[in-house]
Amino acid sequence: MAHIKENILHIQQEIEGLCNRIGKDPREIHLIAVTKTVDADKINEAIDNGIVNIGENKVQEIMNKFEQVDHVNWHMIGHLQTNKVKYIVDKVQMIHSVDRIHLAEEINKRAKQINRCIDILIQVNIAQEETKFGLDEKDIYDFIEQLEGLQHIHVKGLMTIAPYDDVPDRVRIHFKRMKQLFDEIHNKNIKGVEMHYLSMGMTNDFKVAIEEGANMIRIGTGIFGERNYTEK
Ligand SMILES: *Cc1c(COP(=O)(O)O)cnc(C)c1O
Repeated sequence: MAHIKENILHIQQEIEGLCNRIGKDPREIHLIAVTKTVDADKINEAIDNGIVNIGENKVQEIMNKFEQVDHVNWHMIGHLQTNKVKYIVDKVQMIHSVDRIHLAEEINKRAKQINRCIDILIQVNIAQEETKFGLDEKDIYDFIEQLEGLQHIHVKGLMTIAPYDDVPDRVRIHFKRMKQLFDEIHNKNIKGVEMHYLSMGMTNDFKVAIEEGANMIRIGTGIFGERNYTEK
């Protein structure tokens, strides 16, 4: 039995307490409830309890649940194959996992066909883990340059998945580096590139992420409980 309502309240209280401690406005922190493997009824229960953003990491899950879920902003947070963009381009508010120019071009093309613009985040593999998707930080500026002219995508910030560590403080260094990059890109005032959202922090490490500057956190387990799930 999942205690979705209590869990959401608990996370919100933790965000509030932390923000008060570090002098931030808790309203600046956007909470994304990660709903992978969670059925539509439970997602709707979360929405009834104040959730306005949900995150999925698989195209198929978005397609399966889209019709059954109440009005909410959908975020694609997982690795996205180029040939599957067409299935979600009309459904998602934001794509967090853009890490290849071909993918960006496909999103732009499909968004243009339906006459809309899609917000995207650039995914960075900040700890240079072989098993993770995302750009190397050294490639970010080349990547941003290549996005110029893609008028149906709006770059809104950066996203990363930190390495898992039982001691979240040990990944602080990666969050810190992400914030530096975020500020650096922001200060360059690149046309068409906004640094508005820094999406980092999950159940295990969201407090450290917020302390280091995250304003969008992605929480699954902390809201819906432990789930069996594989990345593939
Ligand atoms: C599953 C997932 C999360 C949430 O992870 P929890 O540890 O369950 O909070 C966040 N981001 C991405 C990209 C995920 O795949």
